[in-house]
Amino acid sequence: MFFIFGIGPKTKVVEKSQFVCPVCRSRSAYELKQQRNYFSLFFIPLIPLSKAKGEFVKCLNCGTEMSSIVLKHAQQD
Ligand SMILES: [Zn+2]
Repeated sequence: MFFIFGIGPKTKVVEKSQFVCPVCRSRSAYELKQQRNYFSLFFIPLIPLSKAKGEFVKCLNCGTEMSSIVLKHAQQD
């Protein structure tokens, strides 16, 4: 028996909502994603190795990925 293990980033969607995208300038759905490195065994991420490396927002209208800072600006309406 042998083990297959590795370390790699895993991205998960932490929030889905709507915002005014600064790129396509329309009200669009977005996904807020968080990326972390995981220790994985048999390709299953088991143990988070670091704190969340960063959050980013993907506009589902134009597909642009940007810093989550844009959400704080977009919510001032
Ligand atoms: Zn957009």
